[in-house]
Amino acid sequence: MAAHDFSLHLPAYDPYGEAVRRRLYIGAVSFGVLLLGGSVALQWWLNLREPYLLYIAPLLLILGLADLWWLLTKRSLAVAEIVGIGVLAAATVVHVALVSLGPQPQGAYPNSGPYWTVVCVCTLAFLALPPRRAATFNLAFVVLAVAVPWVLPGSQVSHFAAGLVRLQLNAVIVVLLIWGLAWFRAQHASQAETQELLRQMAFTDALTRLPNRRAVYPAVDALLSDAARGQSGSLFLVDLDHFKRINDQYGHSVGDEVLVAAGQVLRNCAAEVGANPPTVGRWGGEEFIVVMPGTTPESARVRAEQLLAEFRAWSWPHGLRVTVSIGSSSVRSGEEFSALLARADEAMYAAKSAGRDRAVASGSAALVFPH
Ligand code: GH3
Ligand code: MG
Ligand code: MG
Repeated sequence: MAAHDFSLHLPAYDPYGEAVRRRLYIGAVSFGVLLLGGSVALQWWLNLREPYLLYIAPLLLILGLADLWWLLTKRSLAVAEIVGIGVLAAATVVHVALVSLGPQPQGAYPNSGPYWTVVCVCTLAFLALPPRRAATFNLAFVVLAVAVPWVLPGSQVSHFAAGLVRLQLNAVIVVLLIWGLAWFRAQHASQAETQELLRQMAFTDALTRLPNRRAVYPAVDALLSDAARGQSGSLFLVDLDHFKRINDQYGHSVGDEVLVAAGQVLRNCAAEVGANPPTVGRWGGEEFIVVMPGTTPESARVRAEQLLAEFRAWSWPHGLRVTVSIGSSSVRSGEEFSALLARADEAMYAAKSAGRDRAVASGSAALVFPH
């Protein structure tokens, strides 16, 4: 029998969903490939012979195209992110080194190109990695990218030291700003996660993980509105028989185990219905509620029969025999919830008085299932 989870299905909080990130990377990599392709073409045309454009850029171009193919064919995003960050970070450090070794720029400013990539790599890391790992990686990476021109043997940095300091400071400030934004985002995400958790807790019964009374109300409201439009619907109150004895004889923890199993039996039965599924909830104590939209008195009778059979056939802890009494009421047009519930309750007590392990439909003097 297919198990079905009737606890509230709420989407997990995911600030940058996979699909959003994939689209973002496809856009960014396409832009990068075009830019890099243009630079490589331009350097051949102008015969610039810059080592970065000559050796590194074509390699990056091939990797960029491979990355695009990887992303477009829906392969692992995590691999694309880790490899992408690693390759870009390595290329940036090499670029920084080449710039500090290369021919001197005209004027005071060095080539700012690699520092743009520093910012890109840091942004990518904040986007793709968990906040702490991103911060650690970015710190190490920025320190490396900033230090390389100053410590590299043969570096020509003394010719444009003031310009380089200013450029590096700018890059560090931008990275710090992005760091701040990422921090705020992480705070917001954890707050939203906490809220989501509290919401789930407010609507879920802690023991059985079934929807609690509060979570069942919307299903009942829908049932009453359906009735106002002339549609059928039924409600069960399902109460465990002589449950107190189980607690008394085997202890509360076995009682709890039985309640959890009872929740599972109810879930399983509800899952079999398919379209227009019932809502199962813990009404309180050892009493459960089943709200069944579109169910006529006759189909409710069949459902109750199935449910009673499931309870009888279930393999209960300690070889116990556990049965239920079901009170069923079919919704009437214009009826209030309290009246519908009172009729089900009355029927449930009629089932108890008639000997338990049976179902009684409200308004019908006869037992639905004499057992
Ligand atoms: P009846 O067939 O007439 O329904 O008898 P019963 O013993 O099932 O009903 P009664 O109302 O006398 O007892 C219900 C018991 O359910 C009393 C209470 O201690 C127990 N109970 C309620 N909630 C829980 C729970 O969460 N865990 C456990 N272990 N017991 C619970
Ligand atoms: Mg009971
Ligand atoms: Mg009870």
